Amino acid sequence: MKLNLSRLPTPLEKLYKCSEEHGIEILIKRDDMTELVSSGNKIRKLEYLLGEALHNHCDVVFTCGGIQSNHARATTHLAVKLGMKPVLFLREGGTDIFNGNLFLNSLLGADIIRVSEKEYSEIDKIFEEYKDLYEKKHHKVYVIPEGGSTSLGAMGYLDAVSEMLLQVDFNTIDGVYCAVGSGGTYAGLIAGLRYLGYRTPVFGINVTKRDTTFFVEKILSLIRGLVPYGIDVAVNKEEITILNDFSGPAYAVPSSEDIEMIRYLASTEGIILDPVYTAKAFRGMLSVAIKGQRVLFIHSGGMFGLFAQSDLFRG
Ligand SMILES: *Cc1c(COP(=O)(O)O)cnc(C)c1O
Repeated sequence: MKLNLSRLPTPLEKLYKCSEEHGIEILIKRDDMTELVSSGNKIRKLEYLLGEALHNHCDVVFTCGGIQSNHARATTHLAVKLGMKPVLFLREGGTDIFNGNLFLNSLLGADIIRVSEKEYSEIDKIFEEYKDLYEKKHHKVYVIPEGGSTSLGAMGYLDAVSEMLLQVDFNTIDGVYCAVGSGGTYAGLIAGLRYLGYRTPVFGINVTKRDTTFFVEKILSLIRGLVPYGIDVAVNKEEITILNDFSGPAYAVPSSEDIEMIRYLASTEGIILDPVYTAKAFRGMLSVAIKGQRVLFIHSGGMFGLFAQSDLFRG
């Protein structure tokens, strides 16, 4: 049922200059290279989710997110490739520039429906309303929730852990770091590590204004939901570490430190971070990792979103 749409394995590299400057050995998993148009972390989830959509004979895919959602762009690209119609419900507010992910979504032919913040807070209702409309026209709709973060989607990051076993010995890693937006990536990473018997700590950098309890509960529930897929793994609350101090002014709004971080990593290592997720996560990692440690950063992509905020880098 899982589709093979990404270009795997993605490289796992060492950032030599940045490691030396910070006294931390920094490894980076290049999931910004999983594909081109559908690059980033979402494709790993979508290989499962769209596999289920095809299996269920769906011809329309719904998903939702912010105006510059990477998840919406990856879903759109893959749905088009697979012959399904993408319908996006994008939350208004924040920067609304016709570039980056929004431009690609339009180019790829997605139907874009803009919803207010209030409507978005009850997105399931909107999904139901529109699903009825499409079904009346004899379409079959597959609904993907925000970020593709269901238990089935999280399976993609259990597979990523298996993939990394051939690239790194997790027993030598002091911490795995990733951005947390909807929690599916974190859930898959920690479930995968524990399932394979590794005790490596996983640090999730919260890039939203949701609180720790929200993510701990969501991640635990995603992990419990893996049982039907043959993954019965015990992860307790205390193992889930969510760092809240790096979320910046608001979701999708970078701080001046984030902007500096993007400039820094681009100009020292040639690695492009994004202003919504990975800049915040990388900054969080550099702040909490202790000198002498060996850490693994999951680069979850997001480069197109940077183009929508390029004005912040002028001058
Ligand atoms: C969606 C996204 C994340 C967050 O992943 P979740 O599984 O939603 O927590 C991180 N980085 C990028 C670039 C993303 O697009």
